[in-house]
Amino acid sequence: MSSSVHIAETRNLQALQALENAIKRDLDLLNYPARDWVLSRESSKGQKILDVIIIGGGQGGLASAFGLMREKVKNILVIDENPEGREGPWLNFARMHTLRTPKHLTGPDLGLPNLTPRAWYEALFGKDEWDKMGLIPKEHWAEYLRWYRQLLGIPVRNLTRAGAIEWNETEKCFSIPLTDLVLNTTEVALARKVVLATGIDGSGRWDVPAMITDKITRKHYAHTRDEIDFEQLKGKVIAVLGAGASAFDNASVALETGAKQVHLFYRRGDLPNINAYRWAEFVGFLKHHSDLPDKMKWRFIRQILKMGQLPPTDTFARATRNPNFLLHGNNKWNDIEQENGHVKILSNTGEFNVDYIIVGTGCVTDLSLRPELENVVDKIALWKDRFTPPENERNDDMLRHPYLGSHCEFTEKNPGEAPYLASIFNFTFGGLVSIGFGGASISGMKYSIQKLVNGITKQLYLEDAEAFYQSLEEFDLREF
Ligand SMILES: Cc1cc2nc3c(=O)[nH]c(=O)nc-3n(C[C@H](O)[C@H](O)[C@H](O)COP(=O)(O)OP(=O)(O)OC[C@H]3O[C@@H](n4cnc5c(N)ncnc54)[C@H](O)[C@@H]3O)c2cc1C
Repeated sequence: MSSSVHIAETRNLQALQALENAIKRDLDLLNYPARDWVLSRESSKGQKILDVIIIGGGQGGLASAFGLMREKVKNILVIDENPEGREGPWLNFARMHTLRTPKHLTGPDLGLPNLTPRAWYEALFGKDEWDKMGLIPKEHWAEYLRWYRQLLGIPVRNLTRAGAIEWNETEKCFSIPLTDLVLNTTEVALARKVVLATGIDGSGRWDVPAMITDKITRKHYAHTRDEIDFEQLKGKVIAVLGAGASAFDNASVALETGAKQVHLFYRRGDLPNINAYRWAEFVGFLKHHSDLPDKMKWRFIRQILKMGQLPPTDTFARATRNPNFLLHGNNKWNDIEQENGHVKILSNTGEFNVDYIIVGTGCVTDLSLRPELENVVDKIALWKDRFTPPENERNDDMLRHPYLGSHCEFTEKNPGEAPYLASIFNFTFGGLVSIGFGGASISGMKYSIQKLVNGITKQLYLEDAEAFYQSLEEFDLREF
């Protein structure tokens, strides 16, 4: 662990208990209107229909659930394939020491000061420790999220994978196969609304260039997202492809575990050292990107992507302090070959022989790669169906992003063909062009959760407007 990362260890459980009591009181004070209101539904066979199923129990899924629960949408279920506490990247493949987001971030708290990461941290470790800390250690972030889930009583079913969502016209709801990964059994849940909170790769997948998958056997490469046995890489020469933060983190872990040498390759001439994410942290962009006309949405996001996601200062320093870490900018791989247990990289700047490749080229956006969307993907409108960028602003990955409505809901490719798509909410990084920092981003949560929740409550009310009207006509609670 780098000396610049401070992990507090001594926990004040009494102070945490006091904080929890204060949160319960806050929730009680704010509990208006308190009445449950969503009309309950059953299928023709008597199966209970959930109001909302949330696929993904990371920070996005948990905060969406809390947002809905505060609006008295309680007939919900969150699904996650991981064991409790291990949702998302933090304790799995995140190899950085700390979050990259500034520590004063808010978001999952939904405006309750006592529920902020800072309140949790100060209660548990003290205000001095908070002041001393530079960025939030990822282990503490994962612990905060677990505490949040338990304290708020969010209904999560772990070790369960959601399969292909299907619209059931007769029952007017979605069928979602849920596979219990322990028992290996599948049951079908019914839900009126679906939230995809499936993460940064939730609208596509982590990308490994075909040059690698076609030519190299699996034991010679991994993606930064994979489980990697770094012990096996001791004494080896490693190539890391890509210059994003995770590429640097993986290079560091390899060197710290005893790799002989790590070469990190990237195409740009210079490493980005201006962080567009820091520019983006203001109300206008975070709250109102989705209100811009398409032409401007496109330009802002394209510019942010063009500026690139740089390794933060600590991440850069952690890797570059090691003399066996070698950077190769302006480098393009032309071909690779596997020979005698080694990999030969043929690049524009020369030939490199390595033992193993770690791919840090991020995610590709492509809804057709998502098993959850198999039954509906052809009907979903993408940016390429709605917008033609100027030739000099073209970006193929952005064109594959879903063209979402202002509440993160899918829209139809052919209007009238699949109106139910508006009941599937894409709270993944795939919302980037339409919503900005919506799903899969801590920075945007403060505003994006509200947008999502408003969209769901609006639909739940409007769809049953007749029944609500009838209940008004029949309302006979006498005042005296
Ligand atoms: C290494 C790394 C570091 C990052 N650091 C930062 C940072 O510092 N600051 C920041 O703002 N952002 C950061 N991000 C981006 C973002 O905040 C994280 O990706 C964050 O985890 C997103 O939260 P989420 O809830 O949307 O998705 P996740 O945390 O990824 O949770 C999604 C969950 O859904 C599960 N899932 C997916 N499909 C299914 C299915 N079909 N059935 C059941 N479960 C399913 C996944 O296994 C996962 O547990 C980082 C991302 C990565 C990968």
